[in-house]
Amino acid sequence: MSPRHTNLELFATDEPGRAREVSAEVEALSASWAAGDRADLFHRRACEERLEALRALWRKERELFGDAELAALRQLAEALRSAGRTDGRDCVGRATPRQVLREVFGHQEFRPGQEPIIEAVLSGRDCLGVMPTGAGKSLTYQIPARILGGTMLVISPLIALMKDQVDAMGKVGVRATFLNSSLEPEERRARVQSMRRGEYELVYAAPEGLEASVGSALANVRLTALAVDEAHCISHWGHDFRPAYRNLRGLKVRFGGIPVLALTATATREVTRDIADQLGMVDPLVQRGTFFRPNLRLHAYKKGDGATRLAGKRRGLRARDALLRLVRSRPGESGIVYCLSRKAVEATAELFRGHGVRAAAYHAGMGNDARSATQDAFQAGDVDVVVATVAFGMGIDKPDIRYVLHRDMPRSIEGYCQEIGRAGRDGKPSDCVLFYSWADVIGWDRLTDDADPAVAELQKRQAREMFRLADDAACRHVALVRHFGERMDSCGTSCDLCAGTDLCSEARPAKAERGRAEHVGEGPTSSGALPRRPVRRRGVTATSSTAPAEPSQSRAHAPDRDERGQGFPAEPSRTRDPSSTPTATAELFDELRALRRALAAERGLPAFCVFPDAVLRHLSAVRPQDVDELSKVPGVGPKKLEQYGDVFLKVLRDR
Ligand SMILES: [Zn+2]
Repeated sequence: MSPRHTNLELFATDEPGRAREVSAEVEALSASWAAGDRADLFHRRACEERLEALRALWRKERELFGDAELAALRQLAEALRSAGRTDGRDCVGRATPRQVLREVFGHQEFRPGQEPIIEAVLSGRDCLGVMPTGAGKSLTYQIPARILGGTMLVISPLIALMKDQVDAMGKVGVRATFLNSSLEPEERRARVQSMRRGEYELVYAAPEGLEASVGSALANVRLTALAVDEAHCISHWGHDFRPAYRNLRGLKVRFGGIPVLALTATATREVTRDIADQLGMVDPLVQRGTFFRPNLRLHAYKKGDGATRLAGKRRGLRARDALLRLVRSRPGESGIVYCLSRKAVEATAELFRGHGVRAAAYHAGMGNDARSATQDAFQAGDVDVVVATVAFGMGIDKPDIRYVLHRDMPRSIEGYCQEIGRAGRDGKPSDCVLFYSWADVIGWDRLTDDADPAVAELQKRQAREMFRLADDAACRHVALVRHFGERMDSCGTSCDLCAGTDLCSEARPAKAERGRAEHVGEGPTSSGALPRRPVRRRGVTATSSTAPAEPSQSRAHAPDRDERGQGFPAEPSRTRDPSSTPTATAELFDELRALRRALAAERGLPAFCVFPDAVLRHLSAVRPQDVDELSKVPGVGPKKLEQYGDVFLKVLRDR
């Protein structure tokens, strides 16, 4: 099998000059072959590539080759053939992807989606891989790099990670390096020279570097393919646009139409199209991995929601207190808590620390040193919880993050997906708890005031999509993967709606006697303090549960406001309050479940399709009395209201 990509470039324009360049290349190649390890697959492959480039040139310009050069090349070809025969591979030593997977990387099997991408790159086809975090994206370029020989250029925005990636490659014997602004000039020159000699299989570079030095360093390098990591950064429509990514456009053409592999963890169809256009891809294979990660258990709570899925208490859900409760129930576990504002980050980290949690803050307003210190301490396990804005995360490579909590709703579903994707990379169960409110949407809207109108429009749309996703009553995983064009059946056990779990009320601080369920909502002074009397409070608050269709009626305020002013009844308490003892609530819950069973059986549906447990729990705590109240319960949409509203209201009113 002969290599497909040969781009030996000669620079002289006159024949004697070109002949001298050929002679020099033949001499260099013979020396390189003699100096290397003949049993080394990569070495053989690199030499064969160079030999093939010379053959291609000989076919076009025979006059450039003298007898001595031809004799040397014949000898070399024979040596390569016999070296290849000794281990049973073909003359160019081309191994199969599976062989490389096992022999080099030590894995027995491919993960879903990896193989088709690798095959596409090997066959010279452009490919766009949309694979969620943790699906093993890097192998899809590392394996072709080993098989194709020559050098693969990997564009990555994460300069901070390049050294680690290169070190990891070194450990398994893949020759990799990086070129970026962190290198001293001398080191850099040495690496460029090695790269030109074809000594690296993988070269990592940042997109910003291509404009200047890395771009020129690539002259005369035999690139076999281009891999673009975090490719959504090329699209205006993505959530992480990096203008320098647009410089990648000409690379494919410059290197003779080499295959381009674009990889990203989050891309809608719109972004996918944009990536393909921007990179000048030709008929790319678009490979989408599944976005369903069953080990991520998704939960969501509407802030200020009086429904209190918190141990039957009738009070507004305060994200701050619920977060504290969740974090305290997991001492020693690694977690990230995302907040919208820097102020909230500082305050939440302080709150945690005040309760003995090893927490640190991270946001863009902090100095570089302080941010690095937080990141390093987290990575090293000296800090359990990082409280952060969205600025935190791109460089995090920690497999055992057991939970990601959102104190505020993320700006977009893509952002949410990236952020929760940092949990559970080791495949073990991890909780993702989202606190959201319509006030968060308004908060995001305000941040678009200065933006370009088209961008502002897009961002507003994204925030609303995110709100709808959070407020959806169906399986959360189904809703999430649907956003990326994927269909699946209900997860069954990996979200609160399917499993009927209520993490906040189940969470117990490690010192159990100090933080019983009743304490939720008491704030930082709660530990050890006398429980306050429950505040009588009815149903859903007006503040944050207003339907998104009428944003102007929501009080436009910063998300922080959501947590204040709770605990005062929006309307006078109803007489049904006294009946809401835990026993009465439990009885009602059982009754609603029986009703649900009957309805589901009648229609031949699984029970959760009528209403999931979480909704029933909510109904038994709040006891809505009319259609209006019922419609405000999260998970009760217009369709469900029409189908089941009357029968459920009948039971609820009877109590
Ligand atoms: Zn589910």
